[in-house]
Amino acid sequence: MRILVTGGAGYVGSHVVKELLETDHQVITIDNLQKGHREAVLGGEFYDCDLADYQGLKQIFSRHDIEAVIHLAADSLVGESVEDPHKYYQNNLTSGLNLLEVMLEFSVKKLVFSSTAAVYGDPQNIPIKESDPGEPTNPYGRSKLFYEKILADYHRAYELKYVSLRYFNAAGADSSGQIGEDHDPETHLIPLVLQTALGRRQKLEIYGTDYETRDGTCIRDYIHITDLARAHVLAVEALKQAKESRIYNLGSGEGYSVREVIETARKVTGREIPAVPAERRAGDPPVLIASSEKIMDELGWERRFDDLETIIATAWKWHENNPGGY
Ligand code: UDP
Repeated sequence: MRILVTGGAGYVGSHVVKELLETDHQVITIDNLQKGHREAVLGGEFYDCDLADYQGLKQIFSRHDIEAVIHLAADSLVGESVEDPHKYYQNNLTSGLNLLEVMLEFSVKKLVFSSTAAVYGDPQNIPIKESDPGEPTNPYGRSKLFYEKILADYHRAYELKYVSLRYFNAAGADSSGQIGEDHDPETHLIPLVLQTALGRRQKLEIYGTDYETRDGTCIRDYIHITDLARAHVLAVEALKQAKESRIYNLGSGEGYSVREVIETARKVTGREIPAVPAERRAGDPPVLIASSEKIMDELGWERRFDDLETIIATAWKWHENNPGGY
């Protein structure tokens, strides 16, 4: 298929583009390069374009006969969204609506949307199922949940079919070592742990050691970025025949605590990795673990990287080869 990927120069996007190219799809990437890296896009056509640029989007759609869109371009930092909700509603919703408008104008009616576990807020059940209530606790999660609801309305009104993928904690890097995770500022646990292993940071702060979990630290569900990327390929291919739109969780079904992540990273890297207890981070639920059975049953998705050690080892390969990022 000829597929437009928005946000294709980002961490998830660059891995999605690589998987699409390897499965013989034609890829057109757009990214405003505010957070993304041009070098991370390993092939296909590339446009430096912001989703707010309606005319720019129209030109791209008129130049390529696009069959489907994988929409990942968004702001995604919880803390920043609390401080600056306007930015999140503007970029994630208003610019996202621009994209939908151009899609409909060009009769492109297949969309894979990058959603998040943050739509669940503080979950009532573990593992979390797609049917569990969505009650996000911050503007980032709300912007993603609102967009899912907009998509449901667009399906009813305009027959736009979509698959929304609710990511849990994306981690690791492509096993080639060519692309990986490089955020500025970095806020995610595994890259921070590995930057500490490299000596780029003196110590890691553990945000909260008094949670009601097995060792007092938060538990998260880490899913390898290549497994996550492959789910996008399955989802976009499924849209070819789909009559229904779908929402799927994407996680591993297993949870690891912050201390377990640090311990595993010490083992993988052979480095000391100093870590100190610190205050809880506002808005962190104690445990987030996904049930991903729905996507396994319906799309035949399966995990190939199924243990934390392998996930961290692939991330370490990228960090060791690219200590300063891209
Ligand atoms: N975390 C931590 N220290 C850090 C960064 C993160 O203890 O320097 C914890 C954070 O509180 C959470 C887990 O690691 O429980 C994963 O955080 P991350 O930001 O990677 O992903 P999130 O679960 O927030 O999407």
